[in-house]
Amino acid sequence: MPELAYLNGKIMPIEEAFVPIEDRGYQFGDAVYEYIASHNGKLFFMDDHIARLERSLKELSYPSISMQMIKSGISDLFKASMIKRAGIYIQISRAVAPRNHGFSNQEPVQIIMTAKSLPDTHHHANKGASAITMEDYRWDRCDIKTVQLLPNCLSKQKAVDQGAYDTIFISKENIVREATSSNVFIIKNNKVLTHPLTNKILPGITRKVILEVCMDKKIAFEESFFTLEQLYDADEVFLSGTVTEVLPIITIDSKNIADKKPGQLTQVLFKELRSKAGVK
Ligand code: PLP
Repeated sequence: MPELAYLNGKIMPIEEAFVPIEDRGYQFGDAVYEYIASHNGKLFFMDDHIARLERSLKELSYPSISMQMIKSGISDLFKASMIKRAGIYIQISRAVAPRNHGFSNQEPVQIIMTAKSLPDTHHHANKGASAITMEDYRWDRCDIKTVQLLPNCLSKQKAVDQGAYDTIFISKENIVREATSSNVFIIKNNKVLTHPLTNKILPGITRKVILEVCMDKKIAFEESFFTLEQLYDADEVFLSGTVTEVLPIITIDSKNIADKKPGQLTQVLFKELRSKAGVK
């Protein structure tokens, strides 16, 4: 299957796509992104991703652009790639312009996308994974999906260096925020808890779908703050994300979560999420 890129309306082999060095995304991290996955040849939760992209652009005062054009670009690229289980990365940077902190919004935004195969991570859901925690030292607008991901990258690498899967960010006030590329859920006494939507976390699409599943299946849930101690003391912990799907976390900072096995309700939510995506 060809791995393809989309560069301002043109589709080409990925190795032929380049951006100019004065792209503001490259020099200032002045770009937003989305990541959409497909299952069995169908892109999932596209409208939610597009709505979040539009919001990110608006929050950063980008010039308005047609979301219909972005949607067609995504569909064209996805079709051309012929990849059934694909990850489509979409990035919009403000402009290519002489380096200057201020901006005029006069130059056209730069739209790039890539279509690549996504490995199946089903086995992780059966086995579970480990996490470490770290103080959240990111900026105050984690609700905007920008490419400024250096704290996330450094924190992910710290986990990997310690043999763990990911890092969970904890605020100075001891509140559990989210992981480096997923939201965090705990389950205590059959109730599902996750951080409310504030400027401190990304409004995950998978998070939203999981809460919808809880609603449909009459599983008790609450969007409320919880502490590091509640995280350690949970009956079940899992991460959620487009790539992560539902990933049980069975040890945190070398402490076992419950009996160190993926929890039952977590497995139910994983299956329900997959069935929403049309995967048996
Ligand atoms: N939180 C962060 C920091 C993320 O980067 C992501 C996904 O990239 C998520 C949460 C999960 O969001 P979604 O479910 O939309 O993939």
